[in-house]
Amino acid sequence: MADICDDAQAAEAYVLQAALAGVPRIDLGPGPLFLGGVACCRTCLEPIVSARLVAVPGCSHCRDCAEEAQGG
Ligand SMILES: [Zn+2]
Repeated sequence: MADICDDAQAAEAYVLQAALAGVPRIDLGPGPLFLGGVACCRTCLEPIVSARLVAVPGCSHCRDCAEEAQGG
C-alpha cells in the first residue's frame, strides 16, 4: 500500500522540481503528463495504462479521472 503513496509523492516532487527549475509548463496542453518517460494522468499523476493510450490517443487523464470529469 505504501508504494502507491510513494509513487504519488515522487511524481508530485518531480513536478515541483520541474516548476522550480523553470522547466516549460509540461503540465499544460493536450496529452498525458510524462513523468520519467511514463505517460501519467494530469489529475492523479497515476500512470495511464497502455491500453487506454492506444484506445484514446492523446488522452490526458486516466479512465477514472476522465469519467469523473465527464460524469460529474
Ligand atoms: Zn487520474
